[in-house]
Amino acid sequence: MSDKRFTEQVYIGLGANLPSGAGRPVETLEKAVADIAALNGVALRRRSPWFESAPVPRADDQPWYVNGVIEVATKLTPADLLAALQRLEAESGRVRTVVNAPRPLDLDIVAFGAHVAVTGTPLVPHPRMVERAFVLLPLQAIAPGWRHPVSGRSVAELIAALPAGQEIRLL
Ligand code: ADP
Ligand code: MG
Repeated sequence: MSDKRFTEQVYIGLGANLPSGAGRPVETLEKAVADIAALNGVALRRRSPWFESAPVPRADDQPWYVNGVIEVATKLTPADLLAALQRLEAESGRVRTVVNAPRPLDLDIVAFGAHVAVTGTPLVPHPRMVERAFVLLPLQAIAPGWRHPVSGRSVAELIAALPAGQEIRLL
């Protein structure tokens, strides 16, 4: 058994807007939370309620997303956590096509403790999290005291600075 310590305050964003083998998006996401909690070296700490949000960028021919954020602690490195999340995406039937294509399951590392990586994979914090209401609102629901490790801005400040027009509501 490794004696590596857990990194706390690791946030994972979950999203889905197509059915998967597990069912409707919310069923896929519930299964993903359980699968992440069951990963070796990962402990589930908190989970947000589910939100539903219009696709970004707007795509009127695509179904709305169901989104949420969970907080975990992990002994994994960011790269190993991302690899585990990508295996779960693949198991959900996700086929990578183009950026922003509809998908049965999207799992992103939103932030990894105080860790900052601006090159390599994964980038942390996720470079687009600051412009996404569907990440920031669920994050605020479980981590109202969170601050961006680079800018120092609070989640409330980031939400206040969001460009208008992102449609999101509690599911
Ligand atoms: P998005 O989630 O932004 O809509 P994708 O899910 O298609 O886009 O991810 C594109 C790529 O982004 C992935 O193949 C992954 O290697 C890379 N990536 C970089 N940083 C992260 C991160 N923090 N979380 C998830 N994926 C990341
Ligand atoms: Mg992704």
